[in-house]
Amino acid sequence: MTIKQTAGREALGDFAPEFAHYNDDILFGENWNNGDISHKTRCIITVVALMSSGVTDSSLKYHLENAKKAGVTRAEIAAVLTHVAFYAGWPKGWAVFRMAKEVWAEDAPAGDAKAAHAAGMVFPIGAPNDGFAQYFIGRSYLAPLSTAQVGIFNVTFEPGCRNNWHIHHAKSGGGQILICVAGQGWYQEWGKDAKALRPGDMVNIPVGVKHWHGAAADSWFSHLAVEVPGEETSNEWCEPVADEDYRLLAGL
Ligand code: MN
Repeated sequence: MTIKQTAGREALGDFAPEFAHYNDDILFGENWNNGDISHKTRCIITVVALMSSGVTDSSLKYHLENAKKAGVTRAEIAAVLTHVAFYAGWPKGWAVFRMAKEVWAEDAPAGDAKAAHAAGMVFPIGAPNDGFAQYFIGRSYLAPLSTAQVGIFNVTFEPGCRNNWHIHHAKSGGGQILICVAGQGWYQEWGKDAKALRPGDMVNIPVGVKHWHGAAADSWFSHLAVEVPGEETSNEWCEPVADEDYRLLAGL
């Protein structure tokens, strides 16, 4: 993603062309597009800087909206503002919370969204997927449906949650089949475009292919994971899916 900003020229192009140039071309054109820290992190830092300086006007509102677009969740912004309120001042926390509440107003609390997702699905969500949490970004849930003959598990991802790149290995047979049952998600093989997943979609994952699967940024997602029987089967877990790559999928 490349950030383009024209607010400087629109507001001050005639009055202060140099300021407009620094704003649009340097601050936003170059600095905001520097990839050494993630866009999401940069959005959070900007909110924190404005809050700490006591800037709670429309520019803060703009940067809160920006942070939300970059994938900052309601829970995350609440934690960020609470943390900063201790250091920057309690009244600043109150002022920014009033604004943040408006920006994140339409997001239902996570518990309600999870319950709504569960209600629209015939399979259980199951328990927090603690055993594999180290290989996931975000929270996931696991419900074993079949543990005999062929292993079948319902895997549920909260919005934005995905597993790390990984490879299913086997000496013979093996691999994995995904059957999408609820919500919207993604499947991607290394070096290929990601594929959007909807309920009813099937994915056949051959042995030896590096890939990841997970939820869309704004949707809960569940798929059945079918373990294809084989000899000497194992999973190789690799690096997480970069925030930057995942963000591109959401068009952010
Ligand atoms: Mn897999």
